[in-house]
Amino acid sequence: MKILFLFLDGIGLGADNPETNPFVRANMPYMQALLGGKKLISSAAPFENTHISLQAVDPNLGVKGLPQSATGQAVLLTGINIPAELGYHYGPKPNPEVAQYLNGATLFSKTIRAGKKTALLNAYPPRYFDGIDSGKRLYSSIPLALTNAGIPLFTHEDYFAGRALSADFTGKGWHDFLNYPNAPLFEPEVAGEKLATLAKGYDFSFFEYWASDYAGHKQDMESAIHQLETFDGVLKGLLTHWDMDNDLILLTSDHGNMEDLGTRKHTATSVPLLLLGHKNHRHAFAGAQHLTEIAPAICRLLALD
Ligand SMILES: [Zn+2]
Repeated sequence: MKILFLFLDGIGLGADNPETNPFVRANMPYMQALLGGKKLISSAAPFENTHISLQAVDPNLGVKGLPQSATGQAVLLTGINIPAELGYHYGPKPNPEVAQYLNGATLFSKTIRAGKKTALLNAYPPRYFDGIDSGKRLYSSIPLALTNAGIPLFTHEDYFAGRALSADFTGKGWHDFLNYPNAPLFEPEVAGEKLATLAKGYDFSFFEYWASDYAGHKQDMESAIHQLETFDGVLKGLLTHWDMDNDLILLTSDHGNMEDLGTRKHTATSVPLLLLGHKNHRHAFAGAQHLTEIAPAICRLLALD
């Protein structure tokens, strides 16, 4: 089987409040149909039908303070309760204490050690690598874990060659922010099809979407709604080209943020664990209540470790 881990930074299961929650306002007909007519908010979970389940997962892990990205992502990749071991949540980028958990014990490393194929499907622009090389930019937990596993990040060349996806799905950012007028552009549904095709090439693939956390910090309702409506199209294209009986898509987050634009900070709310695939695969996550329980379930399904 193949697993695609779709990581959306900073999305929690929020309140049914159109003033603050873009998940209430956004037009997401595809997601809503998947969830039996419900929106992706706290009252939708738990939910289960033939090929989908939604459960609420706690990112606080018994540690005071608001959950943060470096520790949250490291927990998702290792299953270790890192905030509890360190005594704090930390982010956005990993400090040395968090970074030491990201070498050897991550899903990327375990997949490689099992002789299987793994990738982070995002393409990174040259200026990202310039920032890393000059020391001005630190890896966040996910690319750090990948490179520690000996796998290179995809570049602009991979994006142009169709081997990787744009972090915004459609490629618009390559035109608007990165100044690549010839970069490929995709309609959301086509980007979703592309994601499905790329994911089929790996036993364990990962896609990181970070603009959701950014919109949360900016309290930008317009951007949040636009992102969610784009994502709805991506999901449609992805699932239309997905082998629901054999392969599994897992969508989750490191902490809440965008679901409550009443605050520019992260939230302590539960995050969604949306599973798309066969019941037997989804049952590996049955009863999961904490962020720590996701990586072990992936290891069981892929026979890692
Ligand atoms: Zn954040």
